[in-house]
Amino acid sequence: MLLIDGKAIAEQIKSELKTKVEDYKRRVGKVAGLSVIIVGDNPASQVYVRNKAKSCVEIGMRSEVIELPASVSQADLIEKIGELNRNPDVHGILVQQPLPKHIDEFAVTLAIAPEKDVDGFHPENVGKLCIGRLDDCFVSCTPFGVVELLKRCEIETEGKHCVVVGRSNIVGKPMANLMMQKLKGMNATVTVCHSATPNVAEFTRQADILVAAMGKARFITAEMVKPGAVVIDVGINQIDDPTKKTGKRLVGDVDFDGVSKIASAITPVPGGVGPMTIAMLLANAMKSFERHHGLKPS
Ligand code: NDP
Repeated sequence: MLLIDGKAIAEQIKSELKTKVEDYKRRVGKVAGLSVIIVGDNPASQVYVRNKAKSCVEIGMRSEVIELPASVSQADLIEKIGELNRNPDVHGILVQQPLPKHIDEFAVTLAIAPEKDVDGFHPENVGKLCIGRLDDCFVSCTPFGVVELLKRCEIETEGKHCVVVGRSNIVGKPMANLMMQKLKGMNATVTVCHSATPNVAEFTRQADILVAAMGKARFITAEMVKPGAVVIDVGINQIDDPTKKTGKRLVGDVDFDGVSKIASAITPVPGGVGPMTIAMLLANAMKSFERHHGLKPS
C-alpha cells in the first residue's frame, strides 16, 4: 500500500517554485505577488491566511495580507479588490471565505479580475476548466492538488472509474470536471455522488479512484471501497479525542484505519491533500506572474 505523502510532494512543488522565483527575479527583477483579503476575525480563517502568507514568503514571493473589519461594506470591499486588480505588482488575489452575511460572496468573486483569480472561482475560470482550456485558466487549488498528487505518484487515471463524493463548487464539481478532461493525467470515467444519492456505497465500491469530499468524519468505511482502489481523502473534520492535549484531532472523510488495509494507495489526514492546496495556490500565483510577463522557465 502506498501512503501518499502530500506534505513531501507539496514541499517538492514549493522548492521548484522557489527556484523559478529566483530565476525570474534575475531575469526581470520582479517577483510574483499574492494579496489575500481577510474580512473579520474568524480564527480558522486567520490560521489559513497566515499559512498562505508564510508559504509565499518561504518561496520568495511577495505576500500581502489586507485585514478588513467585519463591518466593511460590500462596496468598500469591491473597491479594494478593484485597486488590487489595477496594481501590476499584484498577480494573485484571494478573498478568504466565509464572508460576513451582509456580503454577497458571488459578487465578490465576480469583482476579482479572472487573470488574477488564483482561487479559480470566477465563472470565466470555471467555464474554461469545463471546456478543457486548462492552460488558459486557474483551477480551484484543492482539486488541482489532487490531480497533481496522482500525477506525481504515477497513478494511472486514463479510462479508470473515478467516483467523487461531494459536489461543492470549490472541491467536488471542479474535481469531477478535471478528471473527465481528455488530457494526460485525467481522462477518467467520472461519477459524482451527493447527499441525494441513494446508497452511496453502491457507487463508491465501483471506484478505481475514490475522492471523498463531503465533510463527514470517517464516512467512507472499508466496506464501501473496492480492494486495490486509490483513495483520496479531501475531508478535514475535527473530532473529540480525550487523549490529545487539546481534546481534539483532525480526521478525514475516510476511515483511514480500515480503508488503508484494502486500498492500493491512500492519502492521510493530515498530511495528504491539505498541504497540496497551498502549494497549488502558489503555483497559480506563479502562473499568473508568468502570463503577465510572458515568461517561461529557463
Ligand atoms: P461542502 O459542505 O460545501 O460540500 C459537501 C458535499 O458533500 C456536498 O455536495 C454534499 O451534498 C455532499 N455530501 C454531504 N453529505 C453527504 C453524504 N452523506 N453522502 C453523499 N454526499 C454528501 O464541503 P466542501 O466541498 O467545501 O468540503 C468538503 C470537505 O473537504 C470538508 O471536510 C472540508 O473541510 C474539506 N476541505 C479540505 C480542503 C483541503 O485543503 N484539504 C479544502 C477544502 C475543503 P449536497 O450538495 O447535496 O449538499
